[in-house]
Amino acid sequence: MSIRYDGKVAIVTGSGQGLGRCHAIELAKRGARVVVNDLGGNVDGSGGGSEAAQAVVAEIEAAGGEAIANGANVADYGQVEAMVQQAMDKWGRVDILVNNAGILRDKSFAKGSLDDFKLVLDVHLMGTVNCTKACWDIMREQSYGRIVVTTSSSGLYGNFGQTNYGSAKLGVIGLMNTLVQEGAKYNIRVNALAPTAGTRMTEGLIPEEAFALLTPETVTPAVLYMVSEDAPNKTIICAGAGAYAVAKIVETDGAWLPPEEQTPEGIAAHWDAISSPEGERQPEAGFEQTVKMTGKAMEGLGID
Ligand code: NAD
Repeated sequence: MSIRYDGKVAIVTGSGQGLGRCHAIELAKRGARVVVNDLGGNVDGSGGGSEAAQAVVAEIEAAGGEAIANGANVADYGQVEAMVQQAMDKWGRVDILVNNAGILRDKSFAKGSLDDFKLVLDVHLMGTVNCTKACWDIMREQSYGRIVVTTSSSGLYGNFGQTNYGSAKLGVIGLMNTLVQEGAKYNIRVNALAPTAGTRMTEGLIPEEAFALLTPETVTPAVLYMVSEDAPNKTIICAGAGAYAVAKIVETDGAWLPPEEQTPEGIAAHWDAISSPEGERQPEAGFEQTVKMTGKAMEGLGID
């Protein structure tokens, strides 16, 4: 195994089962000391209990690894701070944070409640914000950090009944995009996982044959790569069943319209050119859009 995490400390949220459990176990196998965080409870976020996290710690220890269990609710900043302090007290550093904890409250937008919407945002988006915030200064001071946020095809592309979940899952991409810029000079890299896996979250939703192929073990290597020394940065890796891909947010080159055509009718008339994928690219930062638009305008208006 050439990619290893000896001397590194990792926190994996929601790692009492499913994908998180597999990430934690594999990190520990490759030398990381791991905080196995899990609030316990049901897929809809109700209930709780620390048994799942403790069982994963026992599994890691039985294989000769080092881990501690933690029952923090990622949506509660006080509990998250205490979790990070627990890692600092025990091991004195935090190098890797895998934001994985999550719940579902699926309902169509028409039928769903705002309370459910807020809860899902709280766990996925604020949970990721809380854990990242609590580790951020430590990683800056160490000049080393590898963070993974867990997004979803639901956030990237939409999924019926998942407005709350999809909003939260695209929210973590927005968080990543700017963290990457603010963390660059501290050697902090932030990437995103868009998994598709057979876990209790997807049980009954995926045909049995596919479920058997979509094991967490086929997804975890993408996380291991994204938290390695030579990790990419600002990359969304899609992973499932042993297949890996990259998702990108791109912008078409677009078209500048003369003043008399800067109308809805003008946009309709030039829609093919505006939306053409030819020349589309993935901007590295938001300001690139402003530079491109003004550049096109200056060219169109003949301004040097
Ligand atoms: P899972 O239900 O098996 O695991 C999620 C874990 O998070 C559970 O152990 C749960 O107890 C824990 N958790 C929930 N709320 C928590 C909180 N507030 N604080 C701490 N822990 C909490 O689900 P999974 O499929 O392994 O999902 C893991 C992550 O991957 C989630 O973020 C999920 O949204 C995402 N995801 C999964 C799939 C998939 O196909 N399974 C697809 C896209 C995204």
